[in-house]
Amino acid sequence: MRVKGEAPGEIARALGGKLLQNEPMSLHTSFRIGGPADLYTVAASAQELVELVSLAREQDIPYLIIGRATNILVADEGIRGLVIENGGQEIWFEDDAVLYAESGALLGDLARESARRGLGGLEWAGGIPGSVGGAIVGNAGAYGCYIGGVTRKAAVLAPDGTVCELSAAEMGFGYRTSRFKGQADEGQQEVILSAEFALRPEPAQELAEKMADYTRRRETSQPTEPSAGSIFKRTRQYPAGFLIEQAGLKGMHIGGAQISPKHANFIVNLGGARATDVKALIDLAQEQVWEQFGIELELEIELVGEWNG
Ligand SMILES: Cc1cc2nc3c(=O)[nH]c(=O)nc-3n(C[C@H](O)[C@H](O)[C@H](O)COP(=O)(O)OP(=O)(O)OC[C@H]3O[C@@H](n4cnc5c(N)ncnc54)[C@H](O)[C@@H]3O)c2cc1C
Repeated sequence: MRVKGEAPGEIARALGGKLLQNEPMSLHTSFRIGGPADLYTVAASAQELVELVSLAREQDIPYLIIGRATNILVADEGIRGLVIENGGQEIWFEDDAVLYAESGALLGDLARESARRGLGGLEWAGGIPGSVGGAIVGNAGAYGCYIGGVTRKAAVLAPDGTVCELSAAEMGFGYRTSRFKGQADEGQQEVILSAEFALRPEPAQELAEKMADYTRRRETSQPTEPSAGSIFKRTRQYPAGFLIEQAGLKGMHIGGAQISPKHANFIVNLGGARATDVKALIDLAQEQVWEQFGIELELEIELVGEWNG
């Protein structure tokens, strides 16, 4: 096991200048929050992702895959081990309406390129800033649609080092969840390498209009300050933002973090917010909504890194 501050030996030799040490995660997360990752590197393709994960496993170094870090809150103490940013961006189309993508590709790029070609099924995803891998993990969705609804298969690197193909049914999609969600925390992360999506022919003009409408709706309802999107899942009865607002917490600040006055299910970084500020607002919202309405708010984002030390 590696001691903090000790040279990461084999992995540094293998990656040379591509390996960053003590890299502030605040430079990479959409929240602009997060302490240092011991080690940080970027995989330029799905193949490189396999190689980096295999190397980390051989060296017994804990690893975490991130896409665009738009759905995580990284602890102020940072992340021990190796963070691998998934940069494989390739996308291609086959058989008219089948889209293939490396898991590091941006969901928004998939949506725009599909719409341009007159292929519907992803137009709701134009404004979601994450990667395909992160979207599959959290079954990202908007406007009544979600990624599990168009995903056919994914190629996955299993913890034993084999690459297997999983069907949509095997991926266990549910509301903002899948079989992959929470694995980062358990240290046995299956790695999504690429995915296949079944789209449908639809007039490009209609798709462009729908996408423009969704963009307008986002602009009027969502804050522009750094955030990680919706903090909590919708509850069975009500949207989480409605409950937080009814609890009187809209606009509440702790340190540099604020429950957005524009949308109460967003916590925003007003500048210099710490992860503990955001966590304190999360705890406050959960406590107040439970006390006032007897409803439990469940996190949609994931807390990663050293929260206990
Ligand atoms: C302004 C804003 C608006 C948003 N709007 C929406 C919305 O409308 N709907 C919605 O669903 N979400 C929304 N989000 C949240 C987020 O963008 C999506 O959930 C997105 O799909 C996450 O992708 P990511 O690449 O950023 O994942 P990350 O945050 O990088 O990772 C999320 C989790 O997935 C894991 N992971 C990432 N890639 C892989 C991989 N290849 N293999 C295995 N595990 C992996 C990570 O380890 C982590 O546990 C929004 C976020 C922001 C900031």
